Amino acid sequence: MSISVQDHEDTIVALATPQGSGALGIIRLSGPDSIEIANRIFKGNDLKGQLTHTIHYGRIIDKEEVVDEVLASIFIAPHSYTGEHSVEFSCHGSSYILQRIIRLLIDAGAHPARAGEFTQRAFLNGRLDLVQAEAVADLIASDNKAAHMAAMNQMRGGFSDEIKKLRSELVQFASLIELELDFAEEDVEFARRDELKALVEQIQVVIAHLIESFDLGNVIKNGVPTVIAGKPNTGKSTLLNHLLNEEKAIVSDIPGTTRDIIEDIIHIEGICFRFIDTAGIREARDKIEAIGVQRTHDKMKAASVIIYLFDLAIETEADIKREIEKLDQLKIPYIKAGNKADLIDPLLIEKLRKVWPDMIFISAKHEHNLDQLRGHLLNIIHLKDFHTGDVVVTNARHYDSLTQTRQALSDVLKGLETGLTNDFIALDLRQALHHLGEITGEITTDDLLDNIFRNFCIGK
Ligand code: GDP
Repeated sequence: MSISVQDHEDTIVALATPQGSGALGIIRLSGPDSIEIANRIFKGNDLKGQLTHTIHYGRIIDKEEVVDEVLASIFIAPHSYTGEHSVEFSCHGSSYILQRIIRLLIDAGAHPARAGEFTQRAFLNGRLDLVQAEAVADLIASDNKAAHMAAMNQMRGGFSDEIKKLRSELVQFASLIELELDFAEEDVEFARRDELKALVEQIQVVIAHLIESFDLGNVIKNGVPTVIAGKPNTGKSTLLNHLLNEEKAIVSDIPGTTRDIIEDIIHIEGICFRFIDTAGIREARDKIEAIGVQRTHDKMKAASVIIYLFDLAIETEADIKREIEKLDQLKIPYIKAGNKADLIDPLLIEKLRKVWPDMIFISAKHEHNLDQLRGHLLNIIHLKDFHTGDVVVTNARHYDSLTQTRQALSDVLKGLETGLTNDFIALDLRQALHHLGEITGEITTDDLLDNIFRNFCIGK
């Protein structure tokens, strides 16, 4: 299906701000009759005939009763988020008032919007491509600096530009090969095979890079899965509690934020670290220390980073060495943290430092050197290299399409090498183009769109 400007006949309405009370609530209307419908319940300037991007003070009237004093913002098509005529009412943020105004707008001819319908219309009207539309959802959900940066970047089109560029280069070759198919009997070659091969190889490099960035993207979006491990009584829960309590203190320092339930996450320079299975650590305090080796092992495998604690007060150099050998086999980045440094002779620390220069010496109980530990966490995941302009894949759907593109392109290469006939090469090329097009929405199906927009909230 190709995308053209769609004519939606109906006008939709929804609350654009969260449910519940607040200082303000915004009600959004979009569709051909937005201004007409808004005007029916608005007393103030006549909203019809106003310029785009103008704001008008007035009252919402239900028969003779004044429901609220509001500001109406006018957006004339195509200069709106959806590309359609649109009106936004800024009202007082009482759920009662907002619901009542929405009701009045529905009675005046608007339909309640489906989840994501505003953004879906923006996409269908060519205001956003799919990657950008999905980035809107990510942007709304972003709760840390890196996720915010990645979503902003996608919304500005960084990722789509890259994909579209690759795709248009491939399209040229694909059409030349299709053309050759039309002249099959004459044995002509419009598409130079060596050039096609070079292009496909070049695209494969970019795609591999994008696919790799998904690990990072995932981390940015969902937090770095982090595990604190070590033998019983090494101080794991003490450390976790201190890290989380400091986070809590930082969070509640920000005026207006109250977080009753602090999840087991901490933020370091805008990156979120999510501690996994921390309940296990806490429980272990009360239960018999019966955590099986296997369970600890599984838990560590699910992590992107491990903070491994050694109890310097009781573990010998030989003990530590044995544990490190096992850790190395896991092939997961880990931090060697010697805990209870407050209990031991500084000379012993110097000695251990010589053996393991990358070990950090902390005291979880006395909160000593925890800043250094945080610095290590940040370094170990290589997020330093992530900048605003980077193209990072954060969306599983894109990741899936990219891996399918990679497969199709490797089939193209194989076909070129083994001298497959044009029709097979053309088929694989079409496959690759299809999957690339799925990412930005150049190729879409109704199912795909429904799936994507279903995950949005109403009013977005
Ligand atoms: P876990 O079993 O690994 O979770 O260990 P805990 O956090 O329950 O700590 C075991 C004991 O070690 C507790 O009595 C803690 O107070 C103590 N502990 C933890 N960290 C330190 C530290 O840095 N220095 C000292 N002196 N004691 C610590």
